Amino acid sequence: MIWEAILNDTISIAVLPGDGIGPEVMVPALAVLHHAAKLYGFNVAALEHPAGAGNYRDHGSALPQSTIDAVAEADATLLAAMGLPDVRYADNTEIVPQIDLREIFGLYGGIRPIRAWLPDAVPLKDPRAADIDFVLVRESTEGLFVGRGKEQTDGDRAVRDIMEVTRETSEKLFHFSFRLAQQRRKHLTLVDKANVLGSMAFFRRIFDEVAEHYPDVTTERAYVDAMAMWMVQRPWDFDVMVTENMFGDILSDLAAGLVGGLGLAPSGDIGDDCAIFQPSHGTAPDIMGQGIANPNAMILSAALMLDWLGRKREDDRMVKAGACIEAAVQAALRSGKALTGDLGGSASTFDAGEAVIVEMKV
Ligand code: ATP
Repeated sequence: MIWEAILNDTISIAVLPGDGIGPEVMVPALAVLHHAAKLYGFNVAALEHPAGAGNYRDHGSALPQSTIDAVAEADATLLAAMGLPDVRYADNTEIVPQIDLREIFGLYGGIRPIRAWLPDAVPLKDPRAADIDFVLVRESTEGLFVGRGKEQTDGDRAVRDIMEVTRETSEKLFHFSFRLAQQRRKHLTLVDKANVLGSMAFFRRIFDEVAEHYPDVTTERAYVDAMAMWMVQRPWDFDVMVTENMFGDILSDLAAGLVGGLGLAPSGDIGDDCAIFQPSHGTAPDIMGQGIANPNAMILSAALMLDWLGRKREDDRMVKAGACIEAAVQAALRSGKALTGDLGGSASTFDAGEAVIVEMKV
C-alpha cells in the first residue's frame, strides 16, 4: 500500500541533456520542474542519461541502448538538444538521435504549441497578434522523413527520396489531433498538398473519415503553401492544425518566428504510451558555454510534459502544475526579468530560470 502511494505520487523522468546549450537549458528546467512538484505535492525522480554528438565522439554511440531502455521505462522523457556541427557519422550525416527516438518509440504526434507569451516579441503589427494561440501537430515518424538514409541514387544523375503515408499512423495522428482540439477551442485544420501528391490525397481521405467521429470539432482543409501565407496574415484564427512531417518541420519554425523565435517554442513528441518533450531549438553552438541561452522553451516543454502526464494518469495536480509553469513563464517574460539576449534583454540562462521560479504560485 505504501509503495503504491509513493508510486502514484512519483513521476520518473528520463533526462537527456545532450549537446551544446542542451545541458545549460536543462538545469533551470529541472529546477522549475522540482519546484512545481513541491508546490503541487508530487515527487519527481529524474535520472540523467547520455546521448548525442558529444557521447558519439567520446564513447562511440550517439544513442546507447541503456538510454533507449531508460526512455522506455520512464513515465516521460525530457530532452534538450542534440548534435554538433563538427561531429558527424563516418558517412558525414548529422547526428540526430532525437529523430531515431521518434522512430524507435513510434512518436507520431509532434505537438508544437505556439502562443504570444511575450506580445512585444511578436513581429506582426495587428493587435490581434497578442491572441496567437494554436498548436501545430506534426506527424513525426513518416512522410518525407521516412526516406532518411534510404534515398535511391541513380549514379550522379538523380537522387530520389520517398514520401510515405500509412493508414495506421494517419488514423492515430488524426484521432490524437481531434482529441487535442476537443480539449481546446474545437477547431482542427488539416494542412496538406492533396491537389498535387497522391500520398497527400490519401492523407486527406483518412482525415475526412476520422472527422466523422468528432462532430463537435469544426474542420478546415488547407494546402501547405496557402497555410504559410495565412499563418502570417491571420495566425490568431487557428486552434489546432495537423500536417505531414516535412511540412510540419518547416511550418513549426515559421510559427516559432511569429511569437519570438525558437527560444519560446516548446514541443512534445507523443506516441501511444511514450512521450519525449524538448524545445524546438537545436544546440545553438554559436552561443554554447556562455550561459546566455534562453531556457524558456525547455521550461515550457517540461510544462507540456506535466500536462500530458497529468491527463494520462488522471492526476489534476500535474495538469495544474503544468499550467502554473506556463503562467509563470508568461509573467516572468512580461516583467522583463526572463528576457535573454535573443529576446532583446540581458538576462542569463540562470536569471531567466530564477525569474520563472519566483513567479510560480499555487
Ligand atoms: P538544428 O539543426 O539542431 O535545429 P540550427 O543551428 O538550425 O540547429 P539552432 O541550434 O536552434 O538551429 O540555432 C538557430 C539560431 O537560434 C542560432 O543563432 C542560435 O543561437 C539561436 N538559438 C536557438 N536556440 C536558442 C536559445 N534557446 N536561446 C538563444 N538563442 C537560441
